[in-house]
Amino acid sequence: MRVRVLGSSAGGGFPQWNCNCSNCRAVRSGLPGFTARTQSSVAVSADGASWLLLNASPDLRHQIGQMPDLAPSAAEGVRATPIKAVALTNGDVDHVAGLLNLREAQPFSLYGSRRVLDALKANTIFDILAPQVVARTELPLGAPIEIHGAGIDLGLAIEAFAAPGKIALYLEDADAADFGTRTGDTLGLRVIEIASGKSFFYIPGCARLDEPLAQRIKGASLVLFDGTLWSETEMIEKGLMAKTGSRMGHINMSGPDGSIAAFADLGVARKIFVHINNSNPVLDAGSRERAAAEAAGWEIGFDGMEIAL
Ligand SMILES: [Zn+2]
Repeated sequence: MRVRVLGSSAGGGFPQWNCNCSNCRAVRSGLPGFTARTQSSVAVSADGASWLLLNASPDLRHQIGQMPDLAPSAAEGVRATPIKAVALTNGDVDHVAGLLNLREAQPFSLYGSRRVLDALKANTIFDILAPQVVARTELPLGAPIEIHGAGIDLGLAIEAFAAPGKIALYLEDADAADFGTRTGDTLGLRVIEIASGKSFFYIPGCARLDEPLAQRIKGASLVLFDGTLWSETEMIEKGLMAKTGSRMGHINMSGPDGSIAAFADLGVARKIFVHINNSNPVLDAGSRERAAAEAAGWEIGFDGMEIAL
C-alpha cells in the first residue's frame, strides 16, 4: 500500500495568504529551514493505479499536478482520472472545498459520515457533483467497508470511528452546547489494504486523545495525526486569533495533555504529524520544538512524503 501526503498543512496553508506571522514571513522570503506546504490531504493506493483521496483540499488541483500518478491515463480515454474515491474526515473547508475541483462529470465515489454528507447536501454548490455521476456513501462507524469507485474495486477498506472534535466552523451554533457538535462531525479513519491486512490510521483533526482512541491506535504500524498546534495558546500569543486549541477542536503537541505525551506509551511504530498550522514552531526545522518532537519519535509530515506499508 502506498500512502502519499499531498498536503501537510492545516487550513490556510503555509504560507497563509493573509498571514504575517514569523513562520509565514520566513517561508515567503525563502529562509532556510522553512518549506511551503499545501492544505490537508492524503492519497492512498493498493495497486498504484487506482487512488483513494483522504480529504479534498482547496489546493487539490495543484496537488494533482505535483503527482504524476494522479494524472489521467491515456488508456482510460480522453477524460479520465486514477482518483476513484474520496473519503472525508469532517466538513471543514480545508477538507471539502477541493471537491469542487473534481467536477466535469467525472465518476468517482464520495464517502463521509452522515453528518458531513448532510452538510454537503445542504450546500447546493456541491450539487455540481451530480448524484448520478458521483455516488455518495455513508461511512458506518466501527465497521470496515470496502471502497469502490467508478466501477473499480480499490482493494482498500475504511473503518471510520468518531474522534473527539468539533463541528465545522461555518456550521457552528453559537447558542448550543459544544457549538452543536455531534457524533460524526469529526472522524478518524483506519485504512486497510484488503489483500495484506495491513492498515494505518489517519486522524487529521482530534481534540484530545481519550482512552477509547488510545486503545484503538495502540501498537499501530503508522498513524498520521493532527499536528495543528504546538501549544494550547499559540494562536493568542502570536496575535493571530483569540482562540485556544481546545476551542478550535485541536489537541496541541506539547505539554502533559499534548499528543506527544499521550502517544509516548502506545507503541506506535511510525508517528507522523500532518495538518500542521502555519503558526506551529515545528515548521522551523531549526527550532527547539522540532527537535523535541523528533526526539520523541515523531516525523513532521511534508508535501510529497510517501510511505510504503
Ligand atoms: Zn502564519
